[in-house]
Amino acid sequence: MTRDVIIAYPNETCEVALERMMRAHIRHLPVVSAGHLAGFVSFRDLVLRDVAAKEGALQMMSSAVHLTGSAAGGIPPMWKCHSCGHLAHGEAPPDRCPACAARYDQFGLLKES
Ligand SMILES: [Zn+2]
Repeated sequence: MTRDVIIAYPNETCEVALERMMRAHIRHLPVVSAGHLAGFVSFRDLVLRDVAAKEGALQMMSSAVHLTGSAAGGIPPMWKCHSCGHLAHGEAPPDRCPACAARYDQFGLLKES
C-alpha cells in the first residue's frame, strides 16, 4: 500500500490538480478536506471542467471585443445561424448559438458594417 498518497484539496484549481495527476501518471485523485476524505476526482472530470472554463473565458473575451467595437462607434457585423435563423451582432460569430446551440461554423455573415 502506498504511504505517500497524492491528494488534492477542494480549493485547488483544476489546472493544479491536472498537472499533479500527469506528473504522477495517475487518473484519479482523492480530495482531502480538513484531514478527511471528501471524494475523488478523475482526470476526465478535470479535463472537461478545464475545457468548459476555457470556453467561458473565450466567450468573455469575444463579448469584450464586441464592447470595444461598439465603444469605438462602429456597428458590429450581424451573423445568422443557418440552423435556426437566430441573429447575433459581433466582430465574430458566437461560439455557440444561444437559441439552438449550433457551433460557430453554422453562422454566416449577414451584413458587413
Ligand atoms: Zn441557432
